[in-house]
Amino acid sequence: MLWGKLMTCIFCHIVAHELPAEILYEDEDLAVFKDINPEAPVHLLIVPRKHIDSINALDEKNVGVVSKMVLAAKRMAEQHGVQSGYRLMMNNGREAGQVVYHLHMHFMGGWGRKPVRR
Ligand code: AMP
Ligand code: ZN
Repeated sequence: MLWGKLMTCIFCHIVAHELPAEILYEDEDLAVFKDINPEAPVHLLIVPRKHIDSINALDEKNVGVVSKMVLAAKRMAEQHGVQSGYRLMMNNGREAGQVVYHLHMHFMGGWGRKPVRR
């Protein structure tokens, strides 16, 4: 994998703090930042630090990060007060609308709240 040398992946740059993003949470495994083009009152992206193209590139060795992503989503729901309803979505592949080929989970919620100012 050449991602370490040829850093052409936008999400690799964001999690490495080499491109700006509104990062709300990060730890050794993942980062959470606001989607630049939100489609819900709260629209976050949960992104592993390690570059993985998509679900198609998951295997027994690297799949553990997905459970960490789900737990991060649960924490985000608590922090944003949207436990009453949120949606997690992972687009996989071109036909499903995947645009950024660095594994990520969309966190969407907040429909019951007044629109927040951005
Ligand atoms: P997907 O279609 O699942 O690949 O989703 C990619 C998402 O990344 C889209 O919702 C974009 O709005 C979002 N996105 C792309 N570039 C950035 C960026 N620089 N900062 C935050 N979100 C981004
Ligand atoms: Zn990447």
